[in-house]
Amino acid sequence: MSKVMMNVKLLEMSQNAISLIYVACRQCYSEKFAGDVFLDATLDLKKQEEFVKSIVASGHMSPLEHVKFSFAIQGVSRALTHQLVRHRIASFSQQSQRYVKEKDFDFIIPPSIEKNSQAKNEFEKLMTTIQQSYTKLLELLGQDNISGETANQDVRFVLPQAAETKIVVTMNCRELLHFFQHRCCSRAQWEIRQLANKMLGICCKELPAVFSEAGAKCETLKYCPEGDKFCCGKYPLKAKNEI
Ligand SMILES: Cc1cc2nc3c(=O)[nH]c(=O)nc-3n(C[C@H](O)[C@H](O)[C@H](O)COP(=O)(O)OP(=O)(O)OC[C@H]3O[C@@H](n4cnc5c(N)ncnc54)[C@H](O)[C@@H]3O)c2cc1C
Repeated sequence: MSKVMMNVKLLEMSQNAISLIYVACRQCYSEKFAGDVFLDATLDLKKQEEFVKSIVASGHMSPLEHVKFSFAIQGVSRALTHQLVRHRIASFSQQSQRYVKEKDFDFIIPPSIEKNSQAKNEFEKLMTTIQQSYTKLLELLGQDNISGETANQDVRFVLPQAAETKIVVTMNCRELLHFFQHRCCSRAQWEIRQLANKMLGICCKELPAVFSEAGAKCETLKYCPEGDKFCCGKYPLKAKNEI
């Protein structure tokens, strides 16, 4: 049972991503069949990339849905994944607390608690108590002949939101851009913001034509739409920007 660090690994992304977006978009306006021009060696990849950049800039987003990224994520809290799975245009496969016994669960400590030694001590003490109660409850249910996943699914009720979890996430480029707009914003909770920034770093490296300008909403708007109370100050508020 210990504190763990976030780890984000790209499992896979669509192959020939630029050409895929390019032909999908071109199909809308061309008499030619996308099946004939896809990966045509005479098509300049640089030009396709420029075209993809221009459709991202113009907000013509549906061709981006053909390209997807799959990430494996570990070392994050259940508090984070509860927020992550609210994104509906995505696919998730998460480690189950029913099928996987939390016999020695790891946990995430928020930085504010970590840097206050008294708070950290209190937090770690509680994690130990929860682990002990979890083990004791499994033992007690065992005496009633309730074991395995049947016991796990009830005893997990005592586990904290801090408990570490692992999840595989797949999103297409359009949803990723949307996810980054919301979750890279300073308004987003620190842990999911950290995750979004790691995913954005990977996407930028793998597919800069789509993601080099991506990030919180303000990065494309060049003003903050969040209002006075939540504005971090990086960009002016909309009203001030318009004056
Ligand atoms: C800073 C912050 C604070 C938050 N606080 C809370 C909170 O206090 N309580 C809470 O419950 N949630 C909260 N959320 C979660 C938020 O309300 C959304 O559920 C979450 O961000 C998912 O985003 P989404 O719905 O825009 O997009 P996704 O589910 O990722 O979908 C992408 C887009 O697809 C479209 N779409 C998807 N499904 C539908 C549909 N059924 N009908 C029409 N269009 C659809 C929409 O255009 C949507 O924007 C918060 C989010 C953030 C970023």
